[in-house]
Amino acid sequence: MEKTYLELNPSQRILLGPGPSNCHPRVLKAMATPLVGHLDPDFLDVMNDVMELLREVFQTKNQLTIPMSGTGSAGMETTLVNLLEPGDKAVICINGLFGQRMADIVERCGAEVIKVEGEWGDIIKPEQVESALKGSGAKLVGIVHAETSTGVRQPLEDIAKIAHENGALLLADTVTSLGGLEVKIDEWGVDVAYSGTQKCLSCPPGLSPVTFNEKAREVIRNRKTKVQSWYLDLTMIENYWGQERFYHHTAPITMNYALREALRLIHEEGLQQRFARHQKNSDAFVAGIEAMGLSMLPPKEYRLPSLNAVKIPDGVDDVKVRKMLLDKFNIEIGGGLGVLKGKIWRVGLMGYSSSQRNVMLLLAALETALKAQGYSVKEGAGIAAAAEVYGL
Ligand SMILES: *Cc1c(COP(=O)(O)O)cnc(C)c1O
Repeated sequence: MEKTYLELNPSQRILLGPGPSNCHPRVLKAMATPLVGHLDPDFLDVMNDVMELLREVFQTKNQLTIPMSGTGSAGMETTLVNLLEPGDKAVICINGLFGQRMADIVERCGAEVIKVEGEWGDIIKPEQVESALKGSGAKLVGIVHAETSTGVRQPLEDIAKIAHENGALLLADTVTSLGGLEVKIDEWGVDVAYSGTQKCLSCPPGLSPVTFNEKAREVIRNRKTKVQSWYLDLTMIENYWGQERFYHHTAPITMNYALREALRLIHEEGLQQRFARHQKNSDAFVAGIEAMGLSMLPPKEYRLPSLNAVKIPDGVDDVKVRKMLLDKFNIEIGGGLGVLKGKIWRVGLMGYSSSQRNVMLLLAALETALKAQGYSVKEGAGIAAAAEVYGL
């Protein structure tokens, strides 16, 4: 019999995992906008708006603030391949999966990795960075601001100072923080950062905003060798996003429409209001989790509001709980990675997905799933604690 291909009709999921998050309906609508050419004067306006609005969320004046074509990992690769040359050294902080990925890319650049390792679930301490960096001649320090694999929020200011005192740049991964919590590029002294569209910006995966300050651009200008990636070479791409608008590769038009709309939503909501919303929903969720007798992985002062890492209680089957949430409630949450596999659940409350409705629904669904596993929960304790945080 001949195979028939039905119209695309995936389940309507509530995305509360480590990404992607749910898109705002206005972002989806913007994506249905007819195309223009990538050199069309109308697209130039879109590009200018995207750059301006990105500077707002990154809280920076950096001229070179643009979305790279590709997902968050393309942003990571862009920053490293442009800054590093064969034989260079880089201090990379590893307390989760994404620090590991950075180290892998540094090696592929032909550069030497100086590892600073921390426990998965805790921060990297400034002293650790200082002792690794001192006298090493490293060109940069790479660190993850929001470690999605552990739910840890890494303070950056002190580490930026240490990097600068030792003649290195600070490179920060802000994939799971940009648009959900403070990312103060200029004030904190972050020289280079990258992010992704599918987490707190609530856009589909597909673009990766990057920002470089003048000091970092100078490092690129002083390279002795060509950037090894043609596609991610900023010396060419900046001429497309700059005044010249030289063709490099065809910009993903639709994704730029989407990002512009997502950034416009952030501008309308206001950064502080948006951060407060993320914090409130996380606070309510954590209150609910603790009322159900569960606990969080990272210490309280270093928890991310955008990614909530919950310890799985003994005797509860990780996969069965997540399967029940998905099958019976259409809710996606994430499992643990690496050493945390089977040990934590990762609950993303990012962008459009960060809402009171989703928190209350997830807590109720989780109670049901935990009970199905024979884990005893006081009836309604989770949602009652969350309701109290919301003042309901
Ligand atoms: C998701 C994520 C990335 C990678 O982004 P992709 O869009 O999956 O390529 C990098 N760093 C962090 C911290 C992330 O959470």
